[in-house]
Amino acid sequence: MAKCGAPTKTGGWCRRKVVTGTSRCPVHQGAWSAYGVAQRKEKEAKEKKRTLRRKR
Ligand SMILES: [Zn+2]
Repeated sequence: MAKCGAPTKTGGWCRRKVVTGTSRCPVHQGAWSAYGVAQRKEKEAKEKKRTLRRKR
Protein backbone atom coordinates (compact mmCIF):
# COMPACT_ATOMS: atom_id res chain seq x y z
CA MET A 1 0.00 0.00 0.00
CA ALA A 2 1.18 3.53 -0.69
CA LYS A 3 2.28 5.83 2.09
CA CYS A 4 1.07 9.37 2.74
CA GLY A 5 4.43 11.13 2.36
CA ALA A 6 3.13 14.50 3.51
CA PRO A 7 5.77 16.72 5.13
CA THR A 8 5.44 16.93 8.90
CA LYS A 9 6.20 19.74 11.32
CA THR A 10 9.18 17.78 12.62
CA GLY A 11 10.85 17.89 9.21
CA GLY A 12 10.14 14.28 8.32
CA TRP A 13 7.64 12.56 6.11
CA CYS A 14 4.34 11.05 7.14
CA ARG A 15 4.60 7.26 7.15
CA ARG A 16 0.93 6.48 7.60
CA LYS A 17 -0.88 4.40 5.03
CA VAL A 18 -3.07 6.33 2.62
CA VAL A 19 -6.83 5.99 2.58
CA THR A 20 -8.06 3.93 -0.36
CA GLY A 21 -9.06 6.21 -3.22
CA THR A 22 -6.99 9.13 -1.98
CA SER A 23 -3.33 10.10 -1.92
CA ARG A 24 -3.15 11.01 1.76
CA CYS A 25 -3.67 9.42 5.16
CA PRO A 26 -6.70 10.35 7.29
CA VAL A 27 -4.60 12.90 9.19
CA HIS A 28 -3.35 14.73 6.12
CA GLN A 29 -6.50 14.63 4.07
CA GLY A 30 -7.18 18.27 3.45
CA ALA A 31 -9.67 20.21 1.39
CA TRP A 32 -7.63 19.29 -1.70
CA SER A 33 -8.27 15.56 -1.54
CA ALA A 34 -11.19 13.95 -3.30
CA TYR A 35 -12.41 12.67 0.04
CA GLY A 36 -12.20 16.13 1.59
CA VAL A 37 -14.01 17.76 -1.32
CA ALA A 38 -16.83 15.25 -1.07
CA GLN A 39 -17.17 15.89 2.65
CA ARG A 40 -17.13 19.65 2.15
CA LYS A 41 -19.87 19.40 -0.46
CA GLU A 42 -21.99 17.39 1.94
CA LYS A 43 -21.50 19.99 4.67
CA GLU A 44 -22.39 22.84 2.34
CA ALA A 45 -25.53 21.05 1.23
CA LYS A 46 -26.59 20.58 4.83
CA GLU A 47 -25.91 24.22 5.64
CA LYS A 48 -27.95 25.35 2.66
CA LYS A 49 -30.89 23.33 3.90
CA ARG A 50 -30.49 24.96 7.30
CA THR A 51 -30.53 28.50 5.89
CA LEU A 52 -33.62 27.69 3.85
CA ARG A 53 -35.40 26.53 6.98
CA ARG A 54 -34.32 29.65 8.84
CA LYS A 55 -35.76 31.93 6.19
CA ARG A 56 -39.14 30.25 6.56
ZN1 LIG B 1 -0.16 11.67 6.40
